[in-house]
Amino acid sequence: MNKLDERQPRRIPAAFLIAGASAWMATVGNAALWRELRSLGIAQAQGGWLLTVTLCGMLAAALYALLSLLAWKRVLKPAIALLLVATAVGAHFMWTYRIIIDSAMAANTLQTDWHEARALLTARLGAVVLVGAVLPSWLVWRLGVAHRPWKQQALRNLAGFAAGLAVVAGLILLSFQPLASTMRNHTQLRYLMNPLNQLWAVGQSAFGSRKIKGPLLPLGRDARLAAAAPGAKPRLLVLVLGETGRSGNFGLNGYERDTTPELARAQAVSFRNAWACGTSTAASVPCMFSHLGREGFLARKQDSETLLDVLQHSGLAVLWIDNQAGGCKGVCDRVPSVNTSGLKDPKLCPHGECLDEILVQGLDERLAQLPPDRRAKGVVLVMHQMGSHGPAYSQRTPPAFKKFMPECTSSHLPDCSSAQLLNAYDNTIAYTDHVLGATIAWLRTRSDYEGALLYVADHGESLGENNLYLHGLPYAIAPDVQKHVPWVTWLSAGFEQGSGVTMPCLRARADTRISHDNLFHSVLGLMHVDTSAYRRDLDVYAGCAAA
Ligand SMILES: [Zn+2]
Repeated sequence: MNKLDERQPRRIPAAFLIAGASAWMATVGNAALWRELRSLGIAQAQGGWLLTVTLCGMLAAALYALLSLLAWKRVLKPAIALLLVATAVGAHFMWTYRIIIDSAMAANTLQTDWHEARALLTARLGAVVLVGAVLPSWLVWRLGVAHRPWKQQALRNLAGFAAGLAVVAGLILLSFQPLASTMRNHTQLRYLMNPLNQLWAVGQSAFGSRKIKGPLLPLGRDARLAAAAPGAKPRLLVLVLGETGRSGNFGLNGYERDTTPELARAQAVSFRNAWACGTSTAASVPCMFSHLGREGFLARKQDSETLLDVLQHSGLAVLWIDNQAGGCKGVCDRVPSVNTSGLKDPKLCPHGECLDEILVQGLDERLAQLPPDRRAKGVVLVMHQMGSHGPAYSQRTPPAFKKFMPECTSSHLPDCSSAQLLNAYDNTIAYTDHVLGATIAWLRTRSDYEGALLYVADHGESLGENNLYLHGLPYAIAPDVQKHVPWVTWLSAGFEQGSGVTMPCLRARADTRISHDNLFHSVLGLMHVDTSAYRRDLDVYAGCAAA
């Protein structure tokens, strides 16, 4: 060996580096998958070990195939580093909150804003990224990799890709029976395969096979307000779009804690059997304001105008007031809207976001700014709450509404006892009750209108039941607590007289099973809007209305 050779940095073939990175991600990066296989009893069952090892080998081989295609000089190391970071972040969230990653979760993540996400950035996440991604990336960076001239390298890359795929195919064939039945019986497992689940989810939400194309379809352009009785006042509906409300945690629904004293005092009616369209804000909100119902909405080929457009076509004044920086997910694009989440009120906006009482501030001025000719016909104000948005439940409530103590103040929810977690969550419901109570009090001051309030939450929440946290599981496997939502109605005496819909009549129907499919038609019914888009059979108030 001569001196020149000694000074050459040692270079390893790209295939070694790819194999090492793939093995790291397939094993350590999939801790949540291995835990799930154990908790399902699959890993311990006969042949379970073999199945686990086979799955791990398939993951490694698939990652090997993918990275082989990227084994170019200036591409490979950044690609590995990126995948390592994605793997570490994904592993942290799947392990900590027992979430799984599908396209709905990816869409949610891409639409989440910094303020909402901040609470998820815990020290533990930092530690996981440091150990799981930054340190290995640093090692990767230091290694010298031998790349070939481009033609040779292209052949090697293709060969690596083919070899990876061949191993995946071989392992599938070898354990087809147990593998297929496990995957069929436990569909959540495929959404735990890190980081392939993330690549798949991002790919699907970006170029989903079923693209929604074309211009927006008009809706309810024939909408007209039904003739009002002589001397009747215009209607004023406040539609509160709740955030992360669990039906079962509402005192009105029989919860053992009195989380809703103000609604109870106002004798508001709660439909106890109401079900959400989706398990996340991004999935639920557009569906709630659509005329299609859940099935039709999921199968749609083209988007349509929303409930708010139809209300506006009918001549009513419409205003969307949003206390979430994430906004209205497109449903309010063509109606006037304001955002309160960035206001600087010293009392209500302490940490760069605002408590929900901000929604009730200055309503008279907001109303006065709407077009007078529309206002004279009637008004729909939509208030999009911050509600019970997790995981920082304790930040949703001011000190005066911390009725249930001690409460969880950590964003790393498994750190808290289940009692503390429940306290923090129930405080958010008690505060929502106060915001709704304050809204009703404001409606009572507007004697120039017949006032009504409707509160419906977008989806529920898991609070550690079966070790699940937060929300957003695929609908088919999500527990009921993520789908069972509150639906509360309050009507002023004038509204009851004018519409014939009375709270006692509604109370008699409070156990009817309803869903977000009913929202579009029920709001049109409450506001007396006549249109071909309205379906009386889906209007939950129609049975109580004067004919
Ligand atoms: Zn939500």
